[in-house]
Amino acid sequence: MLFGKQEMAEWLKHEPLLKKVADLEPVVWLNPKRKLMDGINLPISRTDMEEAEALWLRFAPFLANEFPATQQTGGIVESPFRPIREMKKALNGYCQSDIQGDLFLKCDNELAIAGSIKARGGVYEVLYHAEQLALQAGLISKGGNYELFASDAFKSFFSQYAIGVGSTGNLGLSIGIISAKLGFDVSVYMSADAKPWKKELLRERGATVHEIAGDFGEAIKKGRNQTQGNPNAYFIDDEKSKELFLGYSTAAFRLQKQLEEQKVAVGQDHPLFVYLPCGVGGAPGGITFGLKQLFGDHVHCFFVEPTHSPAVLLGLMTGMKEKICVQDLGIDNCTEGDGLAVGRPSSFASGISEQLISGVYTIEDEELFKLLALLADSEGIFVEPSAAAGLCGPAKVLQSDYCRANGIDAKNAVHIVWATGGALVPKEDMEGFYKKGKALLG
Ligand SMILES: *Cc1c(COP(=O)(O)O)cnc(C)c1O
Repeated sequence: MLFGKQEMAEWLKHEPLLKKVADLEPVVWLNPKRKLMDGINLPISRTDMEEAEALWLRFAPFLANEFPATQQTGGIVESPFRPIREMKKALNGYCQSDIQGDLFLKCDNELAIAGSIKARGGVYEVLYHAEQLALQAGLISKGGNYELFASDAFKSFFSQYAIGVGSTGNLGLSIGIISAKLGFDVSVYMSADAKPWKKELLRERGATVHEIAGDFGEAIKKGRNQTQGNPNAYFIDDEKSKELFLGYSTAAFRLQKQLEEQKVAVGQDHPLFVYLPCGVGGAPGGITFGLKQLFGDHVHCFFVEPTHSPAVLLGLMTGMKEKICVQDLGIDNCTEGDGLAVGRPSSFASGISEQLISGVYTIEDEELFKLLALLADSEGIFVEPSAAAGLCGPAKVLQSDYCRANGIDAKNAVHIVWATGGALVPKEDMEGFYKKGKALLG
């Protein structure tokens, strides 16, 4: 639908913030529909999350063999969790804030297989699908030896089946890499903004790359249409996938363990704040869902989107979810935040996030580069621009009305910034990002 003047006037009455969003101004939006965990009613449960974790464990021997980078963790695809004390000082200067409590980075920029948060959802859904096919064909039982998935017999079995996915880059990388490894005939439909190196890498690994002229929405539409015509094909649908969501959710179990290992307490006096870069809302939604199952009302999750791609913000603010896209408001969906250039939110994720998240803030592209450079200088950690978006979260949220309105004492808070990607970015590209950030910082 296109947004008429009348609808706009009506919404502006309830949501004056919408005008700023349309004008591409950075905003902080607090979610009035957030519920306490007691009153919550969701289409999935902790049991689904536990089953998803069990699937990861079944495939761990296979992953450890096929992806040496996961050997250290016994075939579990997981990233480090690090305190970033120097960055906290740098941020206090940069944001003119005085962040109380501890600041950590969840380093999904180092995640094995795909080098981004997509290694959680994307790899999970392909493994889930492969397992279904193998179970149905009687090739394996859930208690069986999953190293068999690396055998020629299994690869030849999977070569009869196709997998399709639409992507701006990172999802395509994760789906393409794991699918090709298993032997699937995999097609990645890349939007026009996808980086050339991502397409090359995928072709190298044996995926077929289709270049689509339009944005992410167009790439998904094209991929869906092409894939659905083939009875042996399966489409990974980022706009409505429950499996992607569950794959992301298992991050919560691992993070809980890492918090315990580092003796970081979470509770009434130690509220947990998490800042998650957001595209369609699947990755941040799944992680929020998982954390809420484990930490209940003591965890406060905020999404961050580029000012040019505030898809989930629009969907939640207006309540229209996947029925509205940023183009309806005249916003162009052009951003350098790979993985965040999304115009329309996931329907599955939005229905859940609507009840769980504390809010959404938006950020300008220039800010992404500056934060990237600050992180590199203070901690020696290099992430891709989208992955830096959460770094200004603590300042934004603490400067908002959130804590006062909810009676939260943030003096001993634990802040976690989710760094969502970076490991596979070519060195020259990363140097370019860093230089750009340094120049902007002046
Ligand atoms: C995909 C992606 C996100 C957001 O995930 P969604 O499921 O699209 O919300 C964030 N950061 C990076 C680097 C990504 O690739």
